[in-house]
Amino acid sequence: MGQLEMLDVRKAFGTLEVIKNVSLKIQDGEFVVFVGPSGCGKSTLLRVIAGLEEMSSGDIWIDGALVNDLEPAKRGIAMVFQSYALYPHMSVYENIAFPLRVDRLPKDERDRKVRRASAILKLDERLHHKPGQLSGGQRQRVAIGRAIVREPSVFLFDEPLSNLDAALRADMRIELGKLHKELGATMIYVTHDQVEAMTMGDRIVVLDQGAISQVGTPLELYHKPVNLFVAQFIGNPK
Ligand code: ADP
Ligand code: MG
Repeated sequence: MGQLEMLDVRKAFGTLEVIKNVSLKIQDGEFVVFVGPSGCGKSTLLRVIAGLEEMSSGDIWIDGALVNDLEPAKRGIAMVFQSYALYPHMSVYENIAFPLRVDRLPKDERDRKVRRASAILKLDERLHHKPGQLSGGQRQRVAIGRAIVREPSVFLFDEPLSNLDAALRADMRIELGKLHKELGATMIYVTHDQVEAMTMGDRIVVLDQGAISQVGTPLELYHKPVNLFVAQFIGNPK
């Protein structure tokens, strides 16, 4: 399960309208990219979906259940941030296991989930290392591992690769694609990078100043942009 529906979602900070009447349906198992320039509201929209930010109005359903008033931990969602926020004094194992400790999962079940996630992410050999002993890509994988063990129906990624160098970023895009296939979970991936959007998304949602400009496959956006903004934004990769 991993269906998501938003209807007329709005978010304002004071008088600043950051998200404007966003309506969108995402099917179970889709890899959807939200793309748009810096400041267009991508992170805010993800935080609203995750329940980390209260929306001003609108409705959000996850797997058919209205989650408007549900706290983040109860939404069946896990979010991976751009800054990994790992605990430096804990091992890789302990970092990945952390959400399960919070949930008071029995030790053997915790161990099984951590080992499964670390096998998927090829971190088996690193379980006893501290974050400081890892490469940027490995650290990012630990952060993803921490999301995987919670077995969410929807993963939210907020520019998770933007701190990595170009070569590593290219590798990680491929790895995330594999991960998506392997887990079969719904993934929403935020980026300001057109190339990333075009190579990773089954569907792409183009955001312009808090509103959806267009939703479509990479080919649809490329060949049939609905307006000049989409044409210029998708057509002119940096
Ligand atoms: P993006 O992730 O696309 O770069 P954000 O969602 O971070 O954009 O920000 C969208 C707009 O909302 C920006 O103008 C930003 O300054 C504003 N904003 C974000 N968070 C807050 C906040 N907590 N208080 C006030 N304004 C905010
Ligand atoms: Mg952002």
